[in-house]
Amino acid sequence: MKEVILTDIQTKGLEEVYKKLQDEYQRVAQALCFSCNECPDNCCDSYFLHHTYAEWAFLWIGFRQLDAGWRSTLLKRSREWLEQCEKALAVGERPQVMCPLNNDGLCVLYKHRLLVCRTHGVPARITRPDGQELRFPGCFRCQEIVADKYPGKDPPHVARTQLLHTLALLENQLLEGKRHLLPKVRITIAEMLVNGPPALPYPHCQRNLAKQAESEGDGVTKTRYTDRINP
Ligand code: SF4
Ligand code: SF4
Repeated sequence: MKEVILTDIQTKGLEEVYKKLQDEYQRVAQALCFSCNECPDNCCDSYFLHHTYAEWAFLWIGFRQLDAGWRSTLLKRSREWLEQCEKALAVGERPQVMCPLNNDGLCVLYKHRLLVCRTHGVPARITRPDGQELRFPGCFRCQEIVADKYPGKDPPHVARTQLLHTLALLENQLLEGKRHLLPKVRITIAEMLVNGPPALPYPHCQRNLAKQAESEGDGVTKTRYTDRINP
């Protein structure tokens, strides 16, 4: 297996998508006079799945910057989190367990948190390639504000389509145009940490070279996925 690693340019591209989504979030939140202040809930205990190798690799950039003590603590918490979620899923319930990265209300990997952590809360819309529009009403508090201020009207919302399209292009570039051929990502943050950084099998033609490289190194091959596809 070979690790999927973002280039510096791809990292900047992802950060730009995050920034634009957050700017849009702020615009809508201000228009609605909405904020998370004094909310009795905490969305960090929501059971979210994430869908890109790019975000997984970005989370690992932040995780590797932590000291060994923190890394070990977060891995332990992630394993415990997964056990608790599995129990809930086994009885058909949606898990509600505090994210292993939430430390006394603060995100340990705040700069590297996932897209949904940055955008959950306000109304949003996505137009799918087949033209169907998906509408997300926002969290329960935001829905109360919308019901009060915009009864029967179209509320301010984040238009996510273009930015998610940019993210999809970045993901495809990271995977050298082979995104449609590779295993789909559908994974929690805890799994992203416990499973290790994203990695993909070598193309068959490069397996012998890879074995040789790994036997000469420390067993972990750091070459970019892009290097592997176009040596
Ligand atoms: S997004 Fe909504 S439910 Fe979640 S913490 Fe903020 S106000 Fe509360
Ligand atoms: S990654 Fe950070 S912001 Fe996202 S759910 Fe976990 S603690 Fe909350």
